[in-house]
Amino acid sequence: MKKPFLTIVVPCYNEEEVLEETSLQLMGIVESLVVSESISSDSQIMFVDDGSKDRTWELIDSYSQSNKNISGVKLSRNYGHQGALLAGLTEAYKISDCVVSIDADLQDDVHAIIEFMEKYHEGFDVVYGVRDKRETDTFFKRNSALAFYNIMSKLGVNMVPNHADYRLLSKRALAEFLRYKEENMFIRGIVPLLGFKSTKVYYNRNERFAGESKYPLKKMILFAVDGITSFSIAPIRLLLVVGVVMFLVGIGLGIYAIVQKVVDQVVPGWTSLMISLWMIGGVQLIGIGVLGEYVGKIFKQVKARPRFTIEENVFASKFENNKTN
Ligand code: UDP
Ligand code: MG
Repeated sequence: MKKPFLTIVVPCYNEEEVLEETSLQLMGIVESLVVSESISSDSQIMFVDDGSKDRTWELIDSYSQSNKNISGVKLSRNYGHQGALLAGLTEAYKISDCVVSIDADLQDDVHAIIEFMEKYHEGFDVVYGVRDKRETDTFFKRNSALAFYNIMSKLGVNMVPNHADYRLLSKRALAEFLRYKEENMFIRGIVPLLGFKSTKVYYNRNERFAGESKYPLKKMILFAVDGITSFSIAPIRLLLVVGVVMFLVGIGLGIYAIVQKVVDQVVPGWTSLMISLWMIGGVQLIGIGVLGEYVGKIFKQVKARPRFTIEENVFASKFENNKTN
C-alpha cells in the first residue's frame, strides 16, 4: 500500500524565537514516522507565515532550502490564526493524504502526532488532540476558555472541550471542510459538523517554548464573539425574548400609571422615569448591537472576498514537478 503523504500545517505569526526548535522537534517526529513506514518520505512540514513583521519568513525560507521535508507559504499580510490555518490547509489539500495542524509555539506535545497517525491507519478521518491538563496555562486563560466552552455548548454549538486547532484530518474530511465557504471561519466549530469517524488523543499542554502569546485579550474576545455569532442565532432569539418581556412590563406600567392618574395620586416620578429611560435605551442598544453583528457577517459574506492571499509559495514549487503524488 502507498504510504500516506502527511503535511503538518503550522501557522506562524512573529515566531522567530521558536521556529528553530519547532522545526527540529517536528522533523524528529517526521523522521520517526518515516522510519516506522507510517508516512511517505516526501511528507512535509508546512509553515504558514501570517504576515510576520520579524524574521519568520527568512527562517522558513532557509529551512525549506536546506531540508526536503520543510516548506512554507507566505501570506501577503496578517490574516489571523484561523486565516493562516485555512490557507495552509487549502494548499496542503492539493497533494496530501492527511494533514495535521499545530501551533508554532510547541504548547501542544508534538509526540501526539505519532498517535494521530496510528489512529489514521486505524481508519479515523478526524483525530482531535485534547489537552489533558491545562495547569501550564494562566489561571485567566484556563477559566476564560472554560467559560467559553460552557457558553458555546449552552448555545447549542457542538465543540470538543479542551481541543484547540491541534488535529488530524484525512483527505476526504479536509475536502468536505474546504466546502465550508464561510467568511468568519471558526474552524474548531466546523470540524465536528463534518461527521466521519472521529476520535480523541490526549496529551499534556506545555508552556509556550519562547516568545509571547499572539492572542492578547482583545483578540481572544473577538475570537469568542466570532465563534458565537458564526454558529448560533441564540443571541438574536434572546433579544426577542427580552423585547417581549420589556413590552409586557411596559403594558403593566402603563396600566399602573393610568390608574394612578385616575385616582389622582401623581407624584413627580423622576426616579422611575430615569430608570426606565436608561433601561430601555440600554436594551435597545444591545439589540441593535447584536443585530449589527449578524448584519456585518452577512455583509462580509456577500462580498465574498478571498479569505487569504498567498504571496510566496515554497510548498507548491517543491512539488510542481511531481504532482502525480
Ligand atoms: N498566529 C497566527 N496569526 C495571528 C496570531 C497567531 O498565525 O494573527 C499563530 C501563532 O504563531 C501560533 C498560533 O497561531 O502558532 C497560536 O497563537 P498563540 O500561541 O499566540 O496563542 P495562544 O496559544 O496563546 O492561544
Ligand atoms: Mg500558544
